[in-house]
Amino acid sequence: PNGPYIALDLTHLGEDKINERLPYIREVTQRLVGIDPVHEPIPIAPAAHYSMGGIRANMTVTPLPHLFAAGECSCLSLHGANRLGSNSTAECLVFGAVAGEEAAKLALKSELPDLPQEKLAQEEKRVFDQILGNEGGERVSEIRTKMMDIMNEKVWIFRDEKRLAEAVKEIRALRERFKRAKVEDSSKVFNLGLINALELDFMLELAEVTALSALNRKESRGAHSRVDYPQRDDANWLKHTLVYYTVDGPMIDYAPVTITKWQPVERKY
Ligand SMILES: Cc1cc2nc3c(=O)[nH]c(=O)nc-3n(C[C@H](O)[C@H](O)[C@H](O)COP(=O)(O)OP(=O)(O)OC[C@H]3O[C@@H](n4cnc5c(N)ncnc54)[C@H](O)[C@@H]3O)c2cc1C
Repeated sequence: PNGPYIALDLTHLGEDKINERLPYIREVTQRLVGIDPVHEPIPIAPAAHYSMGGIRANMTVTPLPHLFAAGECSCLSLHGANRLGSNSTAECLVFGAVAGEEAAKLALKSELPDLPQEKLAQEEKRVFDQILGNEGGERVSEIRTKMMDIMNEKVWIFRDEKRLAEAVKEIRALRERFKRAKVEDSSKVFNLGLINALELDFMLELAEVTALSALNRKESRGAHSRVDYPQRDDANWLKHTLVYYTVDGPMIDYAPVTITKWQPVERKY
């Protein structure tokens, strides 16, 4: 249902071997796509299943006092330019524990500061007046689907200048459309439509940051494959991309990579 795919044929293995070695694969394909790999090939397509990069933190401590980051939302620089399979779960376990302990220690020795009433009022206005109270004619689900299409087609595995530039422009246009998005359900309690809209707002911002950073990085490195710049370029690009919020849009900056025992080498597989 989600576009082109290749067919992975396991039928030659037979039912006994599939049940013994690949029971989970059989269960998932039957449950999610209604296909039994004992009798039919499995459709295979690439999908984004991890977001590399995130809130910059040093051992979970972020530049914002009292904010800790761990897991997929964080960038602790431990994955290099391409996270290896299963390291995400390991990262969550290790750094989730670190963040929890550090946050608890800090909380025990901190006083709860006065809440900034003006900022709270601003945020309430944004959520309830601007987003929930929006009477514009745009649909949240349509903007979300369009964003997914743009990211899948233009910011996907193999990237190039033209399509990345188009993606940045189109995502910015979607962000403008989002300003006129209407949440169908006006309830202030358990409103999933409102949650979808709030999440989409954040996702559009991150989609722009992702596309812009990919457009800016004129080399290939790890999971970032530029067909127009296929080589890794350590002379110019052995550095982290940092993106800051400004009222005029995302601002790109850089940070050096800390290299300790293992020198970066060309991937030869
Ligand atoms: C299909 C798929 C397969 C994967 N396979 C593997 C694998 O084999 N091995 C591996 O290591 N990793 C794998 N991953 C990646 C791994 O599952 C994730 O990186 C990991 O689960 C992230 O955990 P997390 O706790 O950091 O984030 P999440 O699990 O995303 O948790 C974040 C939580 O924060 C909540 N949240 C978000 N915004 C707000 C807000 N504003 N207020 C309050 N709550 C909020 C969300 O609802 C969510 O519950 C896979 C991912 C996918 C999608």
